[in-house]
Amino acid sequence: MYTESLVKLGKVRSEIRELFEYGNKRKAEIGADKVFDFSIGNPSVPAPKSVDAAIEDLVLNFDSVALHGYTSAQGDAGVRETIADYTNKRFGTTITADHIYMTCGAAASLTIVLNAVLQKDDECIVFTPYFPEYGVFLERTGGKLVAVQSEDKTFQIDMNRFEAAITDKTKAVIINSPNNPSGVVYTEDTIQKMSALLKKKEEEYGHPIFVITDEPYRELVYDNTKVPYIINYYDNTFVCYSYSKSLSLPGERIGYIVVSPAMIDEEDAYAAVCGSARALGYVCASSMYQRVVQKCIDQTADISIYKRNRDLLYNALTDMGYECVYPDGAFYLFVKAMEEDSQKFCEEAKKHELLLVPADSFGTPGYVRVSYCVQTEQIENALPEFKALAESYQK
Ligand code: PLP
Repeated sequence: MYTESLVKLGKVRSEIRELFEYGNKRKAEIGADKVFDFSIGNPSVPAPKSVDAAIEDLVLNFDSVALHGYTSAQGDAGVRETIADYTNKRFGTTITADHIYMTCGAAASLTIVLNAVLQKDDECIVFTPYFPEYGVFLERTGGKLVAVQSEDKTFQIDMNRFEAAITDKTKAVIINSPNNPSGVVYTEDTIQKMSALLKKKEEEYGHPIFVITDEPYRELVYDNTKVPYIINYYDNTFVCYSYSKSLSLPGERIGYIVVSPAMIDEEDAYAAVCGSARALGYVCASSMYQRVVQKCIDQTADISIYKRNRDLLYNALTDMGYECVYPDGAFYLFVKAMEEDSQKFCEEAKKHELLLVPADSFGTPGYVRVSYCVQTEQIENALPEFKALAESYQK
């Protein structure tokens, strides 16, 4: 009676959600302070005060009908212009309002772009570890996900494996840096090599290969790490940006797409984004939050708290003998499980009330993800349990 594949999709909860629900149940049983939930990527730092001030100002002083009314489908022109100007100032680009489409977050941005460029049987390359929802978004386009294993230990793109995976059917490549779940930021060298390889392959196959850059974590980087702006390296780029993590507004659903000004058939590319968004019903992102992000254009949540958590957790866990990927960004620590089967390792962790996410669904079996967007106190209190877990394997 209903679309079978969607009924199935609606019934399976993601592993992370499952664990989160388990955590809530367990907290009710033994007390919230005794369960160390590192499962979910929900920002633990509040939105900056400037967000509250912007909301207050808009509610008190902006025309109420306009504030809560429809904007144009692609978003308010003034908001898009502010974003374009700010981006140009930061990255030396030549983006205009007409390269930007406001969306309700990175998930919508990705869905819109994937539907705009992929047709049945087209291939889309992703690099492990990757956000599992890419598979869900891609399935609806009829395209095929091709996972390419990243370099061991550094988790940068392995150019040999990447080259071997590109075929005549490759239509798009998704990159996610800073990465969920590894926290790795692609170096400029990686981006340059990736771009050169893709340009060579575009020439060889005689059609464009689009880079779709998924950037909810762009602002969450530590120690002055630079995140190259891909439009400056590769012409056929779509940027999928989101304020979910940068302004700690995941529930407000606001972000945008940038179509590179240097994109092949640029006008048609933007029209395809507008058409895709229309077909999917993603028109006119929240009118109020478009204006909020405009007012807070150069703000971020206080990421020093994530840095403190990262340093505490990374240093303590490596001292205990865990093998961890050094995260330059995002708020995840990627840790090698102490046995081959990361599911079993996470079950062992549960015995210590540690809720960790096995990374199998990210395409990287043998690893677990630890989200450190939590109160620092939770990490401090969990360290003895991490130690006991490590010792249970070291004996
Ligand atoms: N992409 C990645 C890698 C993510 O981690 C997330 C959310 O956690 C998203 C996309 C979706 O972001 P949004 O909340 O902006 O839709």
